[in-house]
Amino acid sequence: MTEERYEVFAVRYGTVAARTRRENFMGLDPHETAPMPLDYYVWVVRNEARTIVVDTGFDHAEAAHRGRRLERLPREGLALVGVDTLTVEDVIVTHLHHDHAGTLGDFPAARFHLQEAEMAYVTGACMCYPALRMPFSVEHVCEMVRNVYSGRVVFHDGDAEVAPGVTVHRLGGHSKGIQCVRVQTERGPVVLASDTAHFYENVEQGKPFIITHDVEATLRGYDRLRKLAASPAHIVPGHDPLVLQRYPAPDERLAGIVCRLDVMPQG
Ligand SMILES: [Zn+2]
Ligand SMILES: [Zn+2]
Repeated sequence: MTEERYEVFAVRYGTVAARTRRENFMGLDPHETAPMPLDYYVWVVRNEARTIVVDTGFDHAEAAHRGRRLERLPREGLALVGVDTLTVEDVIVTHLHHDHAGTLGDFPAARFHLQEAEMAYVTGACMCYPALRMPFSVEHVCEMVRNVYSGRVVFHDGDAEVAPGVTVHRLGGHSKGIQCVRVQTERGPVVLASDTAHFYENVEQGKPFIITHDVEATLRGYDRLRKLAASPAHIVPGHDPLVLQRYPAPDERLAGIVCRLDVMPQG
């Protein structure tokens, strides 16, 4: 049996331009104030047989609340590559941070693939600590709880297959139950790191992002990303503006918004 292969897209839906290096890395000197913008993406994994969306972004209310720039709703960005969120059947939620688990209501036909450890984390005692609950929205968490009760959450515990050629892997670190997604493509296995590596620099230099539940798991997660990917050029960080520079747009109209990750990066 030949393994299924997929096209993979990153779709940018928002950005935060006024951000500095010291706001992105743990333990940096406070004087490291060079700008380092952060982009927000959702991802599409697709072939003739199926379409899987990875993460659901956030909406206008969340953007206003957090001072982020929402350029388009995730569903509007996904429509640019022909994805109708009303009909998507599988959504992988890498973790439940506010920028990955909003707009769940835009996916009324979907099963949500989530790690058990993440759900337990966001509904348990750790959320009594403001420092730990800060990246989450209680509205998103409650909506996911409702999805659990309506039988629409598929829980995974560690490594699991979502579809032939698409697997999830719990790495932890940034959030307790964060998972990355490994996808078989024409160029070999590509790993969507989501927030297991926000920027190329995190994984290339072993420098954790500033929001970290467990530093050791974060660093071991970088090692795991390298093992799961066909090469370092097959690891796609979750928030790096360089992703849109390194990978080609599927067509000119989408330049700066969408890029194809199943082809080799340029430079
Ligand atoms: Zn996160
Ligand atoms: Zn994030």
